[in-house]
Amino acid sequence: MPHRFAASEPISAASAPAASLPACIALFPVQQVVDLSGPAAAAAAALQAKLDSTFVVLTCPPFVIAGNLSREQLGGYAQDSIVGPAQAMYASFFDTRPDKVITVLLLADANTYHDWAQRLFGDANIPYYGYYRHAQRTLVMNIATGSGTLVHELTHALIAFDWPEVPLWFNEGLASLHEQCQVAGDRLIGLPNWRLPALPAAIRRGRLAGLEKLPAADFYGPDRGLNYAQARYFCQYLQDRGLLRDFYRQYRASAAKKQTLEQVIQSVCGCGLDRVDQDMRRWVLTLKWP
Ligand SMILES: [Zn+2]
Repeated sequence: MPHRFAASEPISAASAPAASLPACIALFPVQQVVDLSGPAAAAAAALQAKLDSTFVVLTCPPFVIAGNLSREQLGGYAQDSIVGPAQAMYASFFDTRPDKVITVLLLADANTYHDWAQRLFGDANIPYYGYYRHAQRTLVMNIATGSGTLVHELTHALIAFDWPEVPLWFNEGLASLHEQCQVAGDRLIGLPNWRLPALPAAIRRGRLAGLEKLPAADFYGPDRGLNYAQARYFCQYLQDRGLLRDFYRQYRASAAKKQTLEQVIQSVCGCGLDRVDQDMRRWVLTLKWP
């Protein structure tokens, strides 16, 4: 059965991870360039010393995963929402593996999420769902809000090793695509999510700028919500046409080849950015959510 992720999916008896603790498999048993079992064990011990007895800490190199959850719940999230999606991202997109430990903190509710973000990092006024601390390579999640944002932030954590200079708009587009997705075989498939309604509304009002504007956009500025939606659904558009993997690889290589986004699109899609933009707009208007 594919496992689905949604940011709006609360923990409940029906949606909580399976009760049996899966074996925490090594993520990259063959391809891993750097053996992270030692650093992961050391990071887990250091983290355990900062936490209290309500936490369980697991090591799944390159990940150290801690949560104030039962061992079974934490193991379920580790497998279904971290290791499984990571393996799928490596099967689809990424080549360069982490050479440093990535820490994931799963907090069971809003109170302990805010409390431990403050205690461990001095963070206040934090996002509702969760966030990623780049400097510490640490994801901090209020897992009561669902696992969608966990897979979003996981995408940022892993792409940083494969494509450190990834353009912001594409980094956010791909991460947002994974907020609502399913693992099918070895692939991660993004599905429509709550970011959709802004897009057809902007298209119908003539308020959506062309795709060529995205790389230079003030992404986190006043049109932040629309920028996320446009970048996300551009990724889903390519995915649904079987072109996202090829786009990822060619776009990643484009800086070294001094290629523009227009040239990458021409190579991947066989037509120009304008035509892709028009086709994507028609496609967006056919999507339904929920
Ligand atoms: Zn993001």
